[in-house]
Amino acid sequence: MTKIIREIRLLTQNTFVIRFDRDDIQFAAGQHLIVGPGGHLNQREYSIYSSEKSDYLEILVKEVLSGNVSPQLKNSRPGDLLEVNGPFGSFRLESYGMLTRKYMFIATGTGISPFHSFVTSYPGIDYTILHGIRDINEAYERETYDPDRYIPCVSRGTNNVYNGRVTDFLPRYNDEPEMQYYICGNNNMIYEVCRILRDKGVPADRIFTEVYF
Ligand SMILES: Cc1cc2nc3c(=O)[nH]c(=O)nc-3n(C[C@H](O)[C@H](O)[C@H](O)COP(=O)(O)OP(=O)(O)OC[C@H]3O[C@@H](n4cnc5c(N)ncnc54)[C@H](O)[C@@H]3O)c2cc1C
Repeated sequence: MTKIIREIRLLTQNTFVIRFDRDDIQFAAGQHLIVGPGGHLNQREYSIYSSEKSDYLEILVKEVLSGNVSPQLKNSRPGDLLEVNGPFGSFRLESYGMLTRKYMFIATGTGISPFHSFVTSYPGIDYTILHGIRDINEAYERETYDPDRYIPCVSRGTNNVYNGRVTDFLPRYNDEPEMQYYICGNNNMIYEVCRILRDKGVPADRIFTEVYF
């Protein structure tokens, strides 16, 4: 499907949100689209950043400097066309028990995108977000989240926030009965988080993962 870009928000020098027409695309928060610049063959997967309730779609993209698609998306402008397919994927919240369960969302970088969609689609859920970032300016649109529920884990020293990786923070966090863990980002982090959770005795059926690269 071809879509028209309506807005681009630059969040850091290399990370941005692209908003485009939703039309009749139905999705569940957590799913992803396959997106490429109009007129180009290359396309990549991007989690949907926007809410199920919004009448537009948004994706949060980090430019990978030597990449094929993300630099072209960064050079896009409102009015340009996008090629969009989907939605795809099963990284989503079960509706059964959603409002009584506790969730831990663990992300690195733009891996926070599906969690932004969860939180804006289902504002009543009981969540904590651990967001692994290099610098505090990568706490993308953090005002969206309840400040008591959003924990930036910043690897480059900054005052007043936790300095360290999500994998440093997680071992001190007490698992709660029935808490579900959703993990999204790069493969190394996901592997390490799963190991920590396994050591804590969290069963595999409470762990859900989405690997970006
Ligand atoms: C299910 C799924 C959902 C995804 N959702 C998002 C999303 O919401 N936002 C987003 O920015 N990306 C997301 N990605 C990654 C995205 O699909 C692309 O891989 C990324 O944009 C790079 O594409 P490219 O064509 O620019 O680089 P390519 O030419 O494909 O690759 C260049 C190299 O960069 C590596 N790479 C890919 N992503 C990153 C990264 N973030 N940081 C460092 N190195 C990287 C690749 O492994 C590859 O070796 C998702 C991937 C998957 C599988």
